[in-house]
Amino acid sequence: MSEDLSEACGIFGAISTTKRDIFHQMYWGLLSLNHRGQQSYGFLTLQNRHFNKREDLNLIPTDPREVQKLASSLRGRMGISNARYATSGGTGSRHLQGGKQPLVVSSSGRKIALSYNGNIVNAHKLRTTLRKKLGRFKTDADTEVLAKQILLSLEQNSGDYKRAIAEVFDLVEGAYSAMLLDLQDESFYAFRDVRGIRPYCFGRKNDLYAFASETPALDINGITDYDYVSPGELVRVDSKGRISRAQIRKSRPAMCAFEFAYFSRPDSILNESRKPVYKIREEFARALSRTYKKKMKAIDLILSMPETADDSAYGLHEETGIPWERAVRKNRYVTRRAFISGKKERDDVIDKKVNIVSRLVRGKRLAVIEDSIVRGDTSKANIAKLNSAGAKSVDLFVTFPRITNPCLYGVDMATYDELIGARMEPEQIAKWIGADSVNFQTIEGLVESIGIKQDRLCLACVTGKYPSRMAQEMADRIRNQYSSELKSAACEKRVYERDF
Ligand code: SF4
Repeated sequence: MSEDLSEACGIFGAISTTKRDIFHQMYWGLLSLNHRGQQSYGFLTLQNRHFNKREDLNLIPTDPREVQKLASSLRGRMGISNARYATSGGTGSRHLQGGKQPLVVSSSGRKIALSYNGNIVNAHKLRTTLRKKLGRFKTDADTEVLAKQILLSLEQNSGDYKRAIAEVFDLVEGAYSAMLLDLQDESFYAFRDVRGIRPYCFGRKNDLYAFASETPALDINGITDYDYVSPGELVRVDSKGRISRAQIRKSRPAMCAFEFAYFSRPDSILNESRKPVYKIREEFARALSRTYKKKMKAIDLILSMPETADDSAYGLHEETGIPWERAVRKNRYVTRRAFISGKKERDDVIDKKVNIVSRLVRGKRLAVIEDSIVRGDTSKANIAKLNSAGAKSVDLFVTFPRITNPCLYGVDMATYDELIGARMEPEQIAKWIGADSVNFQTIEGLVESIGIKQDRLCLACVTGKYPSRMAQEMADRIRNQYSSELKSAACEKRVYERDF
């Protein structure tokens, strides 16, 4: 567990080729993706040329009465859904209400509903252009920018989806795994940005097509034979259940490497890797043990900061034979999102969230496995607890390399100011968090463990090399400002929301 980092969204869509309603499949599909967004949720179905929509803030409901209410108001055999965390726009209640997805927009007699996962890097600029052509925006979320750009591109290309999405690919920079329903042609469309930064899979079983951020949402619906929406691809499923695929643009892929270390479910199989995420996390630890062989010799006990580091801790234990104790436990009911709270509130939450079985760590030289370090305050709080429990030494091993640059593609670490890795060297970080040492994964170790070539991954947050031009320009400009006298105040705003 690092720091309750949040990601833009989880998406799920389903189409039945017979006449049955698909809410049931959508519900279980989206529920299995709730880890990707907990600020709001939304379901939308298409029924008799009409959209039914239900949405709210917070988690997807699990109370059977509420679920039943949703089911009875969401009839239809095609639907899309979304579990959202805001990486654009405000986080106050009004903004979150406005940012809920799926979003319905219409223009010139065409109505579409959009659900997407990612972040639009040039949303700020596109909004200004689109406002002139399509009028006022109702929300400050980048979903509306993407939806309106699609509408405009459809209008300018006589409703031809292939040409319109090609234009969207050319104009909209960023990460977007998207699904939309078109009311006019009663069809479902799935498309993914040209670099395929966020995951996107789909599959079919009997009369059901399902599209999702991650494969467990397909598994839960009995679909175990899955495929992936390729970067730059458009997939259409029409009202008769006919599927067509078109490779609209081709570019070098850049799948987010952080998905493997932190975001995705351990039982996900992400794109080209072809192996479950938890196996990759075990490999991360093996790579760490090779890099820090000498240090490992001085360790008595392995501990993992639950829960995303558990698989890595197991891998390290298997590789080195050093005992692994699960003596650090997380209270899953302390749910306030540390990342979006104020400092004092956040510190309280961190302190209450984790409990340590003191007698197991007393007098021991500990190797603590973390998935990542972003701000460092969670690690600091946990290490203080280990020290006060009587640990002899605490060496931190981090399965993801040092994060030195903001993410512009949908992970909410979009300022230099919040990144401890941008401000400090590993020795300084160790001192600040109270550890004896902090040992980060190497980029080579990470890439080798994932099993995808380095030039097909996004590693921008650890290398500073962004896979898209505008993102690189924005990050460079802010980095220059950051390294001069501007430091904190100027860098608090998300990089892609600044005026250039
Ligand atoms: S910058 Fe980091 S977190 Fe963001 S998409 Fe790239 S690898 Fe993932």
